[in-house]
Amino acid sequence: MSHISFNTVVHPDAEAVARQNKDLGPSRKDIRSGVRAHLDDCFRCEKKASAETQLRKCSGCLIVRYCSKQCQLADWPTHKAACSDRGSADHLKLTKRLLANDILMYHLQLYAILELDLVDRPANALDHCLYVAVDTEMPADPMGHLQASLKGQVNPDPTYILWVRHIEKKPIVEHASSAARDSHRAFKASLSATGMSDWPVVLLVFTSDNLVILEIPYAIDPRPMQHCREKRPSTYVSGISGRVELPLSKETVREDLNNCILMDKSNQYLLRTKLKHNSSF
Ligand SMILES: [Zn+2]
Ligand SMILES: [Zn+2]
Repeated sequence: MSHISFNTVVHPDAEAVARQNKDLGPSRKDIRSGVRAHLDDCFRCEKKASAETQLRKCSGCLIVRYCSKQCQLADWPTHKAACSDRGSADHLKLTKRLLANDILMYHLQLYAILELDLVDRPANALDHCLYVAVDTEMPADPMGHLQASLKGQVNPDPTYILWVRHIEKKPIVEHASSAARDSHRAFKASLSATGMSDWPVVLLVFTSDNLVILEIPYAIDPRPMQHCREKRPSTYVSGISGRVELPLSKETVREDLNNCILMDKSNQYLLRTKLKHNSSF
């Protein structure tokens, strides 16, 4: 893991920037209501809960919801693997919180634009999806973890953060389910119908330990598109050097995203988790 730096010196700016992110970032309440409003629909058909439709949680993972037995059965071949895997179920819960976080999703949108070359070829979003591998192997306090393991002790704070391990584009036909491709097309059509035909819609496929945990179409808004068009730098916050501006690249954007999560010491973003397992990292 060459990209994790164990810094013993903390730049004076680092705290200030973290505070600034905190003020700009969504609150816990925003994240919870964002998850409820957009991500707690029927996992298969995206129907919302209403007076007529009661959504029931999958009794396996207690995380995804369905509007009917039919939807649950239809989704089972895809959901089965992630449902029975405790780690994947936890990752799914955290992934929904990531999706409800504007600041973090801005970074993911930048990555999507660069990876799919959407400034020059917006049509790439139609035939490629974006695989996003998430993990919780990164200790929330890497320094404490390292110091403890050097002394042969157990990590004093067994809290881990959700982090984005790897992102890559894949041909949509072979790598996304037909249900996800349908909802991708439907979402794109609904945006076009409301005059937003120039917004690319990217099908995000989140994975955990190589299992697909969530497929969701996501509209790329004009701000990150403009950011990439102008090739504005990526602002990277490091513990050692404070705020640094680096040329815009996929790697700096992904590191910046993970750093925002790492710097969120007060768990405003709800992406810190206590894991039962003792991860050696
Ligand atoms: Zn349904
Ligand atoms: Zn389940």
